[in-house]
Amino acid sequence: MDELIEQIRLATQALAEFSVHLFNPTIRLGVTGLSHAGKTVFITALVHGLVRGGRFPVLEAMATGRIARAYLAPQPDDAVSRFDYDNYIDALAAKRLWPASTRQISELRVVVDYQSLNGYQRTLTLDIVDYPGEWLLDLPLLTKSYEEWASESLRLSRQLPRADLAKHWHQHLATLDPNAPEKEQEALTAARLFTEYLKACRAKNYAMSLLPPGRFLMPGELANTPALTFAPLDLSTEGPPPPGSLWAMMRRRYESYRTVVVRPFFRDHFARLDRQIVLVDALAAINAGPDALLDLQHALDQVLDCFQMGRRTLLSALLRPRIDRILLAATKADHLHHTSHDRLETILKRLTQNSTAKAELAGAQVDVIALAAVRATREAMVRQGRQQLPCVLGVPVAGETIAGEIFDGETEAAIFPGDLPEDPDELLDTEKKSFRGLSTMSSQNADFRFLRVRPPFLELTDSGVFALPHIRLDRALQFLIGDWLE
Ligand code: GDP
Repeated sequence: MDELIEQIRLATQALAEFSVHLFNPTIRLGVTGLSHAGKTVFITALVHGLVRGGRFPVLEAMATGRIARAYLAPQPDDAVSRFDYDNYIDALAAKRLWPASTRQISELRVVVDYQSLNGYQRTLTLDIVDYPGEWLLDLPLLTKSYEEWASESLRLSRQLPRADLAKHWHQHLATLDPNAPEKEQEALTAARLFTEYLKACRAKNYAMSLLPPGRFLMPGELANTPALTFAPLDLSTEGPPPPGSLWAMMRRRYESYRTVVVRPFFRDHFARLDRQIVLVDALAAINAGPDALLDLQHALDQVLDCFQMGRRTLLSALLRPRIDRILLAATKADHLHHTSHDRLETILKRLTQNSTAKAELAGAQVDVIALAAVRATREAMVRQGRQQLPCVLGVPVAGETIAGEIFDGETEAAIFPGDLPEDPDELLDTEKKSFRGLSTMSSQNADFRFLRVRPPFLELTDSGVFALPHIRLDRALQFLIGDWLE
């Protein structure tokens, strides 16, 4: 019954949106990716480029001068935070500092006045919706009972390298009797230790991406609520749980997590998206080694599964978005010399080939790109001994250290990024240790993930505006909105 009401509500909403759509197209562009993939930076750079007229030669409507103006307008959803564009662009462009990362869902409306290819004045309203990719990993929970989820999470946590990180949580778990009367303190401690374990997995060195429930890592406005105060229990008996037991309590909270958190997100936000870009920090995973890459591959499979959920059940039909284009983007390509950009794209293609094929079957057009929403480096050939090495130059963020050298946030350093392999399978070979091509000129074994470079100065474009430099951001935009500007 609930599902039927939801279906009617969605249909009415879609109808209302459609009639406005005819004359004044509004598209909802979802921007997602796991934590630190580059969502905030991407949206800030995209909006700045549109509003201020960035150097976007591949965005056809802009290159041919058909965009009259683009400006920010009040967003449609009152209950969703506004994407804090003004502060972010101030940090990036004026202070040359990276803005604060995405922690919850937010939205920003950009209105573009343009001339269509056949000469009409038109307006495109673009609603950009920024949300943590971690939340998408929750979709499978909608079809899993508490008991199934608990046993799966436990099994995963007993495998290496996760088992080491789960030690404290496992010790506490061993003291819990699922059938004993419920105790709030036990639930609190179990949830805290379980969350710490998930966070440890996610910590940079492991780059483990497959970690539902997503809100344990990205709680948004739900931090410390009972909906997030549960954890897996080690269950040896079949249900149902004795009334009033710890097991019953955990199960009840898991249920509220599904109904209060997961379902509304998919229904109210996800199902309304028209286009989607999934940002991926593939370089961080490449650096962390084959395990992290395989893990990222699983996480991406799950994320992409959300876009082509089977039409098997009414529920999946309701929560499935109407997305017709998905762009998968490997971010921060400015850490590499341009000769490796295509290779980075090939690696992302390889990581997502199975799930891309499924999404295409479900009717979405999928493209893969390597980009830097903000290009923070320049390229140069640097002599080392007799060799000329293709390097990138950037100003490491103050306090970054490499081989004992502490950077002051002002001094430029030459980083030799090495070459990515031509064959992506080399990176997935678990026999081999992590990819170690990336290093500074001073240290051959530095891990470049820790060398964050400062945002660049704005550059003056041919049309006389100051713009953020980027790599292939315009190509991404052409794919995502180019046809809407025809
Ligand atoms: P989010 O968690 O997905 O919102 O990630 P952010 O957009 O906050 O990006 C996380 C960090 O990645 C930033 O603080 C930057 O250090 C880095 N970053 C993101 N995009 C770029 C880029 O285009 N170039 C470079 N060099 N660094 C980037």
